[in-house]
Amino acid sequence: MSCYYQGCAQGGTTKEHIPPKSFFPRDQRNQLLTVPSCGLHNNAKSSDDTYVLAQICMNASPSNKSREVFMERVGPQLGYNGEAFRKTLAADAVALPGGAVCYKVDTGRFDRFFTALTYGIIYKVCGKALPAEYSTWHVYHNFQDDAAPAEETILKQMLSDFYSSEPMTIMDFGRVNALNSAVYSVKIFGVPDFGSSITIVHELFGVFRVTSMLTRRMGLPHDDLAFSANNGVQPTAEKRGG
Ligand SMILES: [Zn+2]
Repeated sequence: MSCYYQGCAQGGTTKEHIPPKSFFPRDQRNQLLTVPSCGLHNNAKSSDDTYVLAQICMNASPSNKSREVFMERVGPQLGYNGEAFRKTLAADAVALPGGAVCYKVDTGRFDRFFTALTYGIIYKVCGKALPAEYSTWHVYHNFQDDAAPAEETILKQMLSDFYSSEPMTIMDFGRVNALNSAVYSVKIFGVPDFGSSITIVHELFGVFRVTSMLTRRMGLPHDDLAFSANNGVQPTAEKRGG
């Protein structure tokens, strides 16, 4: 079996948990989904996992389940390493009137985490990795950026409204039997067999929602030709400047 990660040609010699083991209470580990992974793409020891879990707990009003996992997994780490982890989380935090705190989020780490989770879900549904012609980006519904244009807020609302229902039959890409919806649930919209772009709606702890957009770059024949024609015959700056 090959690795679940898009574009990886290595064999899946280890098991990757989706979502990571650390997101589940200790007594509920029998509810994990796994996909085959190479050593490189197995995030088992990734510090991103703990970071993402902690940020979810701080940015989403914590449900009982996420609070339970937070106290069990993340709480003890806050004091480790000379409080380095606590400082990382609190970096650039802004105190708001009324006692609330606004945390700045490293979206690069979130993107890595949700990209891997997305690839895992696709592999689980299809038994193979996401084809190379797809690019992936994520919308984080629980994060608010006051500097963001109003369009972003509108986009999030539209996505939420549109994808809050179950997929229509024609848009039912496939299903993953997420076994513990108190921790993680997922819906997948798209034409089966990679016939279209794909949208995945993840929900963690019932409160933290992320929409992953998997956009299929159209394989226009002339694009291939243009690529071959330029191959080895790159126009130089002099010629272009002519
Ligand atoms: Zn791999």
